[in-house]
Amino acid sequence: MSQAIILDGRPVAAAIRSAVRERVDTLRRRGVQPRCAVVLMENDEPGRLYTQQIARQAADLGIAIDVRIVSAKASTADLVAAVAAAVDDPAVHAILVQRPLPPGLDAARISEEIDPRKDVDGAHPYNQGLLMAGESFCVPATAAAVMELLHQPQVPALDGARAAVVGRSAVVGRPVALLLTAANATVTICHSHTRNLEAVVREAEIVVAAVGRPRFVGSAMVRPGATVIDVGTNWVDGRFVGDVDFDAVAAVAGVMTPVPGGVGPVTTAVLLRSIVDLTERGG
Ligand code: NAP
Repeated sequence: MSQAIILDGRPVAAAIRSAVRERVDTLRRRGVQPRCAVVLMENDEPGRLYTQQIARQAADLGIAIDVRIVSAKASTADLVAAVAAAVDDPAVHAILVQRPLPPGLDAARISEEIDPRKDVDGAHPYNQGLLMAGESFCVPATAAAVMELLHQPQVPALDGARAAVVGRSAVVGRPVALLLTAANATVTICHSHTRNLEAVVREAEIVVAAVGRPRFVGSAMVRPGATVIDVGTNWVDGRFVGDVDFDAVAAVAGVMTPVPGGVGPVTTAVLLRSIVDLTERGG
């Protein structure tokens, strides 16, 4: 039987968009329209769907999205050129390169080409370094979305809490761990080499699952009353499934996010907010 409070991301996202709308209106009165260039590979179906969602919500708020599609056969140099064109375009305040890129491409080289002042998803090494120094300028949207959810009133205080982040990718796990550390949680990062993973995660009062494996976090891994944030989006049998076994964990957790409807909508809203942040800073 479910006992957990289900932390719905949709009202959180709506509140973020509403604040963004006011800031876009203020910029419009100054004659400025926030504009984000999205570099997308033509065969990237998840990237296309995410871009479509961003573009639809951006249009509603008055933010312009320029989708720059590159060929499925594009080289690293082609993507670098697409990013460089957006960097040189004075009308563009923000740049997003849809990730993950295919294995043959040099993702690090492509990220380096983004001007850090236009780096809306915190992909440039300079912004990654700032995050490590605890002075974040632009943070990957998914990691920022996790923190938005953890700051909701239903969630017990982060200060001093023990947290386990399952996953150490540069896009999700590591930035979440750094942001949790900055919020004074005591953080353990788990990955595929972690010994006794179940026992380690069970120690935590906050669990962030960013594994990419459907229903990986089960009830035996979750301490009773813990807060569980599910970043996973796995396409299984025609629907999205998280990295957390929702029904089983709902019987043990104190607060948890659903998939879909948890981290996903907040990520899109945070990205739109970051576009406006960069526009206001004159990126
Ligand atoms: P990723 O780059 O594949 O990283 C997965 C991480 O999980 C790695 O650190 C890996 O460990 C760890 N892992 C894999 N199998 C494991 C196991 N058996 N035991 C312990 N750790 C294991 O994935 P990602 O980009 O971080 O994404 C994670 C999930 O979040 C995916 O489902 C993705 O679709 C989703 N996602 C959602 C959003 C959103 O906005 N909602 C955005 C981005 C990603 P190693 O490092 O040791 O290999």
